[in-house]
Amino acid sequence: MPTSNDPSRQALHLDLLERLVSFDTTSHKSNAHLIDFVSGYLASHGIHSHLLPNQTGEKINLCATIGPLEAGGGIGLSGHTDVVPVTGQDWDTDPFKLTARDGRLYGRGTTDMKGYLACVLAAVPDFVSRNLARPIHILFSYDEEIGCVGVRPMIARLGEDLPTPDIIFVGEPTGMGVVDAHKGPARWEVTVNGRAAHSSMAPLGVNAVHIACELIAELRNIERELKEQRHDRFDPPYPTLQVNSIKGGTATNIVPVSCWFCFDVRAVPGLDVYAIEARLKEFAETRCLPAMHEIAPEASIDIKLVNYVPPFEARPQSAATTLAMQLVGGNETSAVSYATEAGLFQTKGPDTVVCGPGYIEQAHTANEWIAESELENCMKFMRRLADWASRD
Ligand SMILES: [Zn+2]
Repeated sequence: MPTSNDPSRQALHLDLLERLVSFDTTSHKSNAHLIDFVSGYLASHGIHSHLLPNQTGEKINLCATIGPLEAGGGIGLSGHTDVVPVTGQDWDTDPFKLTARDGRLYGRGTTDMKGYLACVLAAVPDFVSRNLARPIHILFSYDEEIGCVGVRPMIARLGEDLPTPDIIFVGEPTGMGVVDAHKGPARWEVTVNGRAAHSSMAPLGVNAVHIACELIAELRNIERELKEQRHDRFDPPYPTLQVNSIKGGTATNIVPVSCWFCFDVRAVPGLDVYAIEARLKEFAETRCLPAMHEIAPEASIDIKLVNYVPPFEARPQSAATTLAMQLVGGNETSAVSYATEAGLFQTKGPDTVVCGPGYIEQAHTANEWIAESELENCMKFMRRLADWASRD
């Protein structure tokens, strides 16, 4: 895949992307081989990597610093190493072999988001050659695609044994535009336990499906009220709530003893999702459980938040927004509906924005691709960042 600049040699970011795509880092698999490659590459440029494995050692976060750590702060370049599955998708090429065609690079993760990782790594020789006044940190995570799970232990260590950047750029695909807001998904599971009985003797039982329906009716009330919490930068311009799945009962002649369902909220910035949970729990305790307990003292309702990625909105006069706009040469920001690690980073302190190559429309699809020009724009961004961060 020769590039226009140098017909004899492939550009470094393309070499790197080819390698990164070749590692099958689907979220349910290990990312250790990819991290091994990245830490070896960084070591070849004299950069030490902090590896932060999970309990089994199969998943690893990587944190590395270029430039004067003692100066404090600096810029964090954040990206996730995992990709979504290709199972059930009809690909025209091998998803784990980078394939160039008509200015496009095909392969799983090219857009989401190994293209960005390749650009960050390709910029390392330039970062190293500069006399940096501020450090540049590389923050690569795992398990983003299953609810931003992997990055959390790394963020918890920022300011402990890891440096805290002043600014974080999350390189999710934005077409190199500056995204300063997104919604945040929260997901709950609810389990109702009643008491079984013969259907002909229904009053002796506690019907778990009926109780689940009462809880769901209350969720519908909440859903309607949420529409009043408008946030006009989003489409739809309010938080949504819906029940996504339900299972309960066994046969027509048995009062169902249990029912399980899950629901999710797509929160706009500022929405208190814990208040929604508190309200449903209060409803369960005051409106459902007393009658259930009269018949079956063992009856219960369990409401559990299973995943929450906080919504994100950059702070007013955010240093991250200002710098990102300067680096991309843009003058407007936008809001998106997909979630990223940005809200988690900003909650810990650093000003954060989302800015990376490629478009979300190509993410997670069969024949995922990124335009070569997007990667070149990202490399330009990295060079400008190096200019900004260096003393010269
Ligand atoms: Zn992503």
